[in-house]
Amino acid sequence: MSSGIGRTWRELRDRLAAAEIPTAALDAQLLVRHVLDLDATGLIASETDPFPGGKSEDLEALVLRRIAGEPIARILGVQEFYGLDFGLNAATLIPRPETEMLVDFGIEHLKSHPAPAVLDLGTGTGCIVLSLLANLPGARGWGVDISADALEQAQANAEALGLADRFVARHGSWFDPLGGEKFDLIVSNPPYIASATIETLDAGVKSFDPMAALDGGADGLGPYRIIAAKAREHLVAAGARALEIGFDQGHMVNELLSSAGFCEIAIAKDLAGHDRMVTARAPK
Ligand code: GLN
Repeated sequence: MSSGIGRTWRELRDRLAAAEIPTAALDAQLLVRHVLDLDATGLIASETDPFPGGKSEDLEALVLRRIAGEPIARILGVQEFYGLDFGLNAATLIPRPETEMLVDFGIEHLKSHPAPAVLDLGTGTGCIVLSLLANLPGARGWGVDISADALEQAQANAEALGLADRFVARHGSWFDPLGGEKFDLIVSNPPYIASATIETLDAGVKSFDPMAALDGGADGLGPYRIIAAKAREHLVAAGARALEIGFDQGHMVNELLSSAGFCEIAIAKDLAGHDRMVTARAPK
Protein backbone atom coordinates (compact mmCIF):
# COMPACT_ATOMS: atom_id res chain seq x y z
CA MET A 1 0.00 0.00 0.00
CA SER A 2 1.44 3.38 -0.92
CA SER A 3 1.53 6.04 1.76
CA GLY A 4 -0.06 9.47 1.53
CA ILE A 5 1.64 12.49 -0.03
CA GLY A 6 1.71 14.30 3.34
CA ARG A 7 3.36 11.36 4.99
CA THR A 8 5.83 11.03 2.11
CA TRP A 9 7.20 14.55 2.48
CA ARG A 10 7.35 14.34 6.26
CA GLU A 11 9.28 11.09 6.15
CA LEU A 12 11.57 12.70 3.62
CA ARG A 13 12.00 15.72 5.93
CA ASP A 14 13.17 13.42 8.71
CA ARG A 15 15.55 11.65 6.36
CA LEU A 16 17.07 14.93 5.14
CA ALA A 17 17.34 16.20 8.72
CA ALA A 18 19.15 13.00 9.70
CA ALA A 19 21.55 13.71 6.83
CA GLU A 20 22.12 17.16 8.37
CA ILE A 21 20.49 19.13 5.57
CA PRO A 22 19.67 22.41 7.37
CA THR A 23 16.55 23.24 5.32
CA ALA A 24 15.14 19.70 5.55
CA ALA A 25 11.42 20.54 5.83
CA LEU A 26 11.40 23.07 3.02
CA ASP A 27 13.54 20.91 0.75
CA ALA A 28 11.35 17.85 1.37
CA GLN A 29 8.27 19.82 0.34
CA LEU A 30 10.01 21.32 -2.70
CA LEU A 31 11.24 17.93 -3.94
CA VAL A 32 7.83 16.27 -3.58
CA ARG A 33 6.15 19.26 -5.23
CA HIS A 34 8.67 19.16 -8.09
CA VAL A 35 8.14 15.46 -8.80
CA LEU A 36 4.34 15.76 -8.62
CA ASP A 37 4.17 19.19 -10.28
CA LEU A 38 2.28 20.73 -7.36
CA ASP A 39 2.38 24.30 -6.04
CA ALA A 40 2.42 24.99 -2.28
CA THR A 41 -1.37 24.96 -2.02
CA GLY A 42 -1.57 21.83 -4.14
CA LEU A 43 0.71 20.02 -1.72
CA ILE A 44 -1.55 20.89 1.21
CA ALA A 45 -4.64 19.91 -0.73
CA SER A 46 -3.08 16.53 -1.61
CA GLU A 47 -2.13 15.69 1.99
CA THR A 48 -4.12 12.44 2.14
CA ASP A 49 -3.88 11.42 -1.55
CA PRO A 50 -1.70 8.39 -2.18
CA PHE A 51 1.82 9.14 -3.44
CA PRO A 52 1.88 7.77 -7.00
CA GLY A 53 4.09 4.67 -6.96
CA GLY A 54 5.40 5.42 -10.46
CA LYS A 55 7.04 8.61 -9.16
CA SER A 56 9.01 7.00 -6.33
CA GLU A 57 12.14 6.42 -8.36
CA ASP A 58 12.15 10.00 -9.66
CA LEU A 59 11.85 11.32 -6.12
CA GLU A 60 14.55 9.00 -4.80
CA ALA A 61 17.01 10.13 -7.48
CA LEU A 62 16.53 13.78 -6.48
CA VAL A 63 16.76 12.98 -2.77
CA LEU A 64 20.10 11.25 -3.25
CA ARG A 65 21.42 14.33 -5.07
CA ARG A 66 20.32 16.58 -2.19
CA ILE A 67 21.89 14.26 0.39
CA ALA A 68 25.13 14.40 -1.63
CA GLY A 69 25.14 18.18 -1.06
CA GLU A 70 23.81 19.47 -4.37
CA PRO A 71 22.02 22.80 -3.80
CA ILE A 72 18.23 22.58 -4.01
CA ALA A 73 18.09 25.29 -6.71
CA ARG A 74 20.29 23.20 -8.99
CA ILE A 75 18.14 20.11 -8.47
CA LEU A 76 14.94 22.03 -9.17
CA GLY A 77 16.61 23.93 -12.03
CA VAL A 78 15.26 27.27 -10.92
CA GLN A 79 16.16 30.08 -8.51
CA GLU A 80 14.22 33.18 -7.58
CA PHE A 81 16.11 36.46 -7.97
CA TYR A 82 14.67 39.94 -7.63
CA GLY A 83 11.21 38.36 -7.38
CA LEU A 84 11.53 36.55 -10.73
CA ASP A 85 12.15 32.88 -11.52
CA PHE A 86 15.39 32.11 -13.39
CA GLY A 87 15.98 28.74 -14.99
CA LEU A 88 19.48 27.31 -14.48
CA ASN A 89 21.68 24.86 -16.30
CA ALA A 90 25.08 23.32 -15.67
CA ALA A 91 26.84 26.31 -17.28
CA THR A 92 25.23 28.98 -15.08
CA LEU A 93 25.78 30.08 -11.51
CA ILE A 94 22.85 29.99 -9.13
CA PRO A 95 21.86 33.68 -8.82
CA ARG A 96 22.83 34.99 -5.36
CA PRO A 97 20.83 37.41 -3.23
CA GLU A 98 23.81 39.77 -2.80
CA THR A 99 23.89 40.29 -6.58
CA GLU A 100 20.49 42.00 -6.29
CA MET A 101 22.44 45.11 -5.18
CA LEU A 102 23.55 45.63 -8.77
CA VAL A 103 19.92 45.63 -9.88
CA ASP A 104 18.97 48.15 -7.17
CA PHE A 105 21.79 50.41 -8.32
CA GLY A 106 20.83 50.08 -11.99
CA ILE A 107 17.16 50.87 -11.40
CA GLU A 108 18.06 53.92 -9.30
CA HIS A 109 20.58 55.11 -11.88
CA LEU A 110 18.38 54.66 -14.93
CA LYS A 111 14.83 55.24 -13.66
CA SER A 112 14.46 58.68 -15.23
CA HIS A 113 16.05 57.62 -18.54
CA PRO A 114 13.30 56.84 -21.08
CA ALA A 115 15.21 54.27 -23.16
CA PRO A 116 18.51 53.20 -21.59
CA ALA A 117 20.82 50.53 -23.02
CA VAL A 118 22.35 48.11 -20.51
CA LEU A 119 25.21 45.66 -21.01
CA ASP A 120 25.68 42.63 -18.72
CA LEU A 121 29.10 40.97 -19.08
CA GLY A 122 29.12 37.27 -18.16
CA THR A 123 25.36 37.20 -18.01
CA GLY A 124 24.92 33.53 -17.00
CA THR A 125 21.21 33.07 -16.31
CA GLY A 126 20.72 36.71 -17.33
CA CYS A 127 19.51 37.46 -13.81
CA ILE A 128 21.01 40.97 -13.57
CA VAL A 129 20.09 42.35 -16.98
CA LEU A 130 16.68 40.67 -17.15
CA SER A 131 15.72 41.96 -13.68
CA LEU A 132 16.67 45.43 -14.89
CA LEU A 133 14.56 45.05 -18.03
CA ALA A 134 11.60 43.83 -15.96
CA ASN A 135 11.78 47.00 -13.85
CA LEU A 136 12.70 49.53 -16.54
CA PRO A 137 10.04 49.23 -19.24
CA GLY A 138 11.88 51.41 -21.79
CA ALA A 139 15.25 49.68 -21.40
CA ARG A 140 17.04 47.35 -23.80
CA GLY A 141 19.60 44.86 -22.55
CA TRP A 142 22.57 43.01 -24.01
CA GLY A 143 23.83 39.85 -22.31
CA VAL A 144 27.29 38.56 -23.22
CA ASP A 145 28.66 35.19 -22.18
CA ILE A 146 31.58 33.06 -23.30
CA SER A 147 29.50 29.94 -22.67
CA ALA A 148 26.99 29.16 -25.42
CA ASP A 149 25.07 26.96 -22.97
CA ALA A 150 24.77 29.77 -20.44
CA LEU A 151 23.62 32.15 -23.15
CA GLU A 152 20.98 29.69 -24.29
CA GLN A 153 19.66 29.65 -20.72
CA ALA A 154 19.64 33.46 -20.55
CA GLN A 155 17.67 33.57 -23.82
CA ALA A 156 15.19 30.97 -22.52
CA ASN A 157 14.77 33.03 -19.34
CA ALA A 158 14.20 36.21 -21.38
CA GLU A 159 11.46 34.38 -23.29
CA ALA A 160 9.85 32.90 -20.18
CA LEU A 161 9.77 36.34 -18.54
CA GLY A 162 8.29 38.01 -21.62
CA LEU A 163 11.41 40.18 -22.09
CA ALA A 164 12.88 38.64 -25.26
CA ASP A 165 11.87 41.57 -27.48
CA ARG A 166 14.17 43.86 -25.47
CA PHE A 167 17.03 41.40 -24.91
CA VAL A 168 20.00 40.70 -27.18
CA ALA A 169 22.21 37.67 -26.43
CA ARG A 170 25.81 37.83 -27.73
CA HIS A 171 28.23 34.92 -27.58
CA GLY A 172 31.89 35.64 -26.85
CA SER A 173 34.51 36.91 -24.45
CA TRP A 174 33.74 40.17 -22.60
CA PHE A 175 33.53 43.02 -25.14
CA ASP A 176 34.61 40.93 -28.18
CA PRO A 177 31.13 40.16 -29.57
CA LEU A 178 30.06 43.82 -29.46
CA GLY A 179 30.32 46.23 -32.33
CA GLY A 180 30.35 49.95 -31.74
CA GLU A 181 27.39 49.83 -29.32
CA LYS A 182 27.49 52.29 -26.42
CA PHE A 183 25.67 51.71 -23.16
CA ASP A 184 24.22 53.84 -20.40
CA LEU A 185 25.13 51.20 -17.84
CA ILE A 186 27.50 48.23 -17.77
CA VAL A 187 26.90 45.63 -15.06
CA SER A 188 28.86 42.50 -14.30
CA ASN A 189 29.24 39.84 -11.67
CA PRO A 190 32.40 38.37 -13.20
CA PRO A 191 34.26 35.30 -11.96
CA TYR A 192 36.30 36.80 -9.12
CA ILE A 193 37.61 33.97 -6.98
CA ALA A 194 41.41 33.58 -7.00
CA SER A 195 42.20 30.16 -8.50
CA ALA A 196 43.98 28.92 -5.36
CA THR A 197 41.04 29.90 -3.12
CA ILE A 198 38.43 27.82 -5.00
CA GLU A 199 39.35 24.80 -2.91
CA THR A 200 38.16 26.64 0.25
CA LEU A 201 34.64 27.44 -1.01
CA ASP A 202 31.52 25.68 0.34
CA ALA A 203 31.03 22.20 -1.07
CA GLY A 204 27.73 23.24 -2.69
CA VAL A 205 29.57 25.96 -4.63
CA LYS A 206 32.86 24.32 -5.55
CA SER A 207 31.35 20.98 -6.55
CA PHE A 208 28.23 22.18 -8.37
CA ASP A 209 28.76 25.72 -9.69
CA PRO A 210 30.56 25.91 -13.05
CA MET A 211 34.27 26.62 -12.54
CA ALA A 212 34.36 29.08 -15.45
CA ALA A 213 31.84 31.27 -13.60
CA LEU A 214 33.94 31.37 -10.43
CA ASP A 215 37.63 31.36 -11.37
CA GLY A 216 39.01 34.87 -11.81
CA GLY A 217 42.61 33.77 -12.43
CA ALA A 218 45.68 33.87 -10.17
CA ASP A 219 44.61 36.90 -8.10
CA GLY A 220 40.88 36.83 -8.97
CA LEU A 221 41.17 40.25 -10.66
CA GLY A 222 41.71 39.17 -14.29
CA PRO A 223 38.17 39.98 -15.46
CA TYR A 224 38.18 43.38 -13.70
CA ARG A 225 41.38 44.32 -15.55
CA ILE A 226 39.73 43.59 -18.90
CA ILE A 227 36.53 45.38 -17.94
CA ALA A 228 38.39 48.43 -16.54
CA ALA A 229 40.52 48.71 -19.66
CA LYS A 230 37.75 48.46 -22.24
CA ALA A 231 34.54 49.69 -20.62
CA ARG A 232 34.96 53.35 -21.45
CA GLU A 233 34.87 52.64 -25.20
CA HIS A 234 31.42 51.18 -24.66
CA LEU A 235 29.93 53.72 -22.27
CA VAL A 236 28.15 56.92 -23.17
CA ALA A 237 29.57 60.10 -21.60
CA ALA A 238 28.93 59.92 -17.84
CA GLY A 239 27.66 56.34 -18.27
CA ALA A 240 27.87 54.19 -15.16
CA ARG A 241 29.03 50.73 -14.29
CA ALA A 242 28.37 48.47 -11.37
CA LEU A 243 30.52 45.45 -10.61
CA GLU A 244 30.09 42.76 -8.01
CA ILE A 245 33.34 42.10 -6.11
CA GLY A 246 34.77 39.73 -3.52
CA PHE A 247 34.78 41.03 0.07
CA ASP A 248 38.52 41.86 -0.05
CA GLN A 249 38.75 43.28 -3.58
CA GLY A 250 37.31 46.79 -3.14
CA HIS A 251 40.65 48.54 -2.86
CA MET A 252 42.21 46.83 -5.88
CA VAL A 253 39.17 47.25 -8.13
CA ASN A 254 38.99 50.91 -7.08
CA GLU A 255 42.62 51.33 -8.20
CA LEU A 256 41.98 49.59 -11.51
CA LEU A 257 39.01 51.84 -12.25
CA SER A 258 40.67 55.07 -11.22
CA SER A 259 43.75 54.34 -13.32
CA ALA A 260 41.40 53.68 -16.24
CA GLY A 261 40.01 57.22 -15.76
CA PHE A 262 36.71 56.46 -14.02
CA CYS A 263 35.33 58.90 -11.47
CA GLU A 264 32.78 58.84 -8.63
CA ILE A 265 34.05 55.42 -7.58
CA ALA A 266 32.11 54.06 -4.62
CA ILE A 267 32.16 50.76 -2.74
CA ALA A 268 28.92 49.43 -1.25
CA LYS A 269 28.51 46.74 1.39
CA ASP A 270 26.11 43.79 1.27
CA LEU A 271 23.70 42.92 4.10
CA ALA A 272 26.40 40.86 5.78
CA GLY A 273 28.57 43.99 5.99
CA HIS A 274 31.09 42.86 3.34
CA ASP A 275 32.29 45.05 0.50
CA ARG A 276 30.28 43.65 -2.41
CA MET A 277 29.82 46.21 -5.19
CA VAL A 278 31.91 48.89 -6.86
CA THR A 279 30.16 51.59 -8.85
CA ALA A 280 31.84 54.21 -11.03
CA ARG A 281 31.10 56.70 -13.72
CA ALA A 282 32.82 57.47 -17.01
CA PRO A 283 33.95 61.09 -17.38
CA LYS A 284 31.39 63.56 -18.78
N1 GLN B 1 25.57 37.29 -14.03
C1 GLN B 1 25.34 35.99 -13.50
C2 GLN B 1 25.04 36.07 -12.01
O1 GLN B 1 25.25 37.07 -11.40
C3 GLN B 1 26.52 35.06 -13.75
C4 GLN B 1 27.77 35.50 -13.07
C5 GLN B 1 28.95 34.56 -13.33
O2 GLN B 1 28.82 33.57 -14.05
N2 GLN B 1 30.06 34.88 -12.75
O3 GLN B 1 24.56 35.12 -11.43
